[in-house]
Amino acid sequence: VKKVSIISVGNELLTGQTLDSNCAYISSRLLSVGLPVVAIFMTADEIDSIVKSLERAISDSDVVVMTGGLGPTDDDITRQALAQFLGVELELQTELLEQIKTFFAKRGTVMPQRCQTEAYIPAGARALPNKLGSAPGILAEYKGKKIVALPGVPAEMRQIFEDEVFTELQEYAKGQVTVVRKLKCFGAAEAQIAEKLGNLMERNRNPLINCTVSCGVITLTIIAQGGWQEQCEKMAEGDEKRLRGILGDLVYGSGDVSLAQVVGEKLTRQNKTLSVAESCTGGLVSKLITDVPGASRYFAQGWITYADNTKTNELGVPEELINKYGAVSEEVAQAMAKCARRKADTTFAIGISGIAGPNGGTEEKPVGLVFIALDSQAGCVQQRVFFPRGRDAIRLRAALTALNMLRMQLEV
Ligand code: AMP
Ligand code: MG
Repeated sequence: VKKVSIISVGNELLTGQTLDSNCAYISSRLLSVGLPVVAIFMTADEIDSIVKSLERAISDSDVVVMTGGLGPTDDDITRQALAQFLGVELELQTELLEQIKTFFAKRGTVMPQRCQTEAYIPAGARALPNKLGSAPGILAEYKGKKIVALPGVPAEMRQIFEDEVFTELQEYAKGQVTVVRKLKCFGAAEAQIAEKLGNLMERNRNPLINCTVSCGVITLTIIAQGGWQEQCEKMAEGDEKRLRGILGDLVYGSGDVSLAQVVGEKLTRQNKTLSVAESCTGGLVSKLITDVPGASRYFAQGWITYADNTKTNELGVPEELINKYGAVSEEVAQAMAKCARRKADTTFAIGISGIAGPNGGTEEKPVGLVFIALDSQAGCVQQRVFFPRGRDAIRLRAALTALNMLRMQLEV
């Protein structure tokens, strides 16, 4: 199997000033054509470090993709490092120089003298035209392997990658196919899911099943590798069925679908409506729901009743209830849901009240404790969530849990 390594060049990456988004882009694009990225190197703008990274990268890969360090400033030295690694000289390509001059002329300026360096390409290598900037990419062959160098600016990197590199690497990896499928789950911990899947998650299995989690959303990735497309599709499909069979309604969708989308589809199909009364989530549930185009078909109204008196004045939650149990309680969350459903006259209503922190927690009601209620004609169900993380995570987890509770009620 042909493999890829990526080298990200740039001091700004090492200091944390810039997040390496190029890698994520290149990895996922290459995986889609069956080329797995097996290592990622990050290195400073220094010739020795870049050459060392190239040596290590090429030792266990068939393709090395580099980004960064192709610009005209003195800290951009990827092309020199690449030439040194290849053991060749940098050669001025006069035609390329003309193209770069034209690039500037079209913008009504004269090429800055130092951009001339961008027309120097390692002998024997090919320049890859850059439509968005002045610095071309470079494609070199090395002992039957391929080395690609691209500018660091994400938009330029993507343009050259798509127009000049992708097809060539796809061709290079012919006969090697990867099909990736994703299953989205909510309602169980990672460990519980792994337990249920048993040896399906064995590391040397094909398809390979990987598991990641973010704020309660579990993504299972099925990676099937083989010699041709249909074979891999079939393997991945078989596994998707298997996983769905085992996990049942823990699975809410496939691909990049969101809980709000799934809930929206179900509400639309079943001709049902929703309102929301939020406290600690400050409108996040309403936001997630209205992120989906067409939400007006089922979403009637949202209240953000943050202060206690607004729960009473706007929704009609009895003051005594708040005094007796506190605003953060299952009783008040339920009352919020019931009042919202009555006022908005919807099939369902969600009520949420909790402590998002970082302050305001007590022994009895610590930061991260959220009560979620879902009211419908069938009665009011509620869930107590305890997710002691940062404020953003607590709120997102609570909002997603609310959407998942609704999804479960809509499961038919
Ligand atoms: P360079 O090609 O080194 O001149 O890079 C130009 C700019 O692209 C840098 O200043 C960064 O802001 C950005 N950049 C470089 N490498 C990356 C990367 N791996 N991911 C995201 N942005 C990057
Ligand atoms: Mg740079």
